[in-house]
Amino acid sequence: AVPLVVAKSTALSAKHGLLIKNRTAFENSRKITTIVFDKTGTLTVGKFEVSKIVLLDKGVDEKELIRLASALEQNSEHPIATGILQKVKDLKITIPKAENFKAITGQGVEATVAGKKIRVVSPGYLKEHKFTMPDGFTANDSETVVFVLIYNKLAGYIALSDKIRPESAEAIKTLKDENIKSILLTGDNNKVAASVSKTLGMDSFIAEVLPHQKLEKIKELQGKGEFVAMTGDGVNDAPALAQADIGIAVGSGSDIAAETAGIVLVNSNPKDIASLILFGKATYRKMV
Ligand code: ADP
Ligand code: MG
Repeated sequence: AVPLVVAKSTALSAKHGLLIKNRTAFENSRKITTIVFDKTGTLTVGKFEVSKIVLLDKGVDEKELIRLASALEQNSEHPIATGILQKVKDLKITIPKAENFKAITGQGVEATVAGKKIRVVSPGYLKEHKFTMPDGFTANDSETVVFVLIYNKLAGYIALSDKIRPESAEAIKTLKDENIKSILLTGDNNKVAASVSKTLGMDSFIAEVLPHQKLEKIKELQGKGEFVAMTGDGVNDAPALAQADIGIAVGSGSDIAAETAGIVLVNSNPKDIASLILFGKATYRKMV
């Protein structure tokens, strides 16, 4: 009888937007005490729109700043890149060629455009490389910001906004009702993370984390006795997903993430995670 109940549950869960790749993951879902959520595309819609272009140096204008950034971003699949490329398209700007493109893991991109070394990077990258934060830096709480560097000069920044998914608040609330803590873990900046976590009533947030730090964070929580589920979409998330007690790959993310995870969240809807847990609890109650 046991396998039958589980088989039925697994089929049902597929209908609810979940792909359970191994039965242990489903069985263990009722033991979860903490869920670590990634932000972009899971708790938020994952569609960035350029909201502001701010100049920090007189050498370039707004169009030139985003034109240079777009040269790099055409080589990236990050949602930030998609947002910047959309804006450039709207402005009917022709994207120049970039050479020696390199992704700076979890922090940005760099390349050479018309002989100039250009970087498009996170505030965390600037701190790490000892750049002084510009006075004109006034991005608001809900904005993601990327800085454009020409050689070693801060030329300006591009602010982008994403929206919280309408289902996220209810998902977090359901988890809270089940005594499950929710933590936001993101490579995005502190302000954005604080704002999303507060809006959704999450227990805490950790921002500006680099890919390897995600793994460390999961270990740390496990060391405190937490049974940890984690969501993620990127190649970068794979080690942390593997370390978590239950790895949940989100939506149309990377194949590597999906391979590593025990569960795939097909519609990227955080409410499906809450359903899964309630469902797991109900299923295994029946079997006792
Ligand atoms: P998350 O944890 O939300 O998935 P990532 O690790 O993908 O975040 O990215 C962290 C940060 O690195 C972004 O918020 C951004 O500042 C910077 N970044 C990453 N990729 C790019 C890119 N293609 N262009 C500009 N900035 C990027
Ligand atoms: Mg990501």
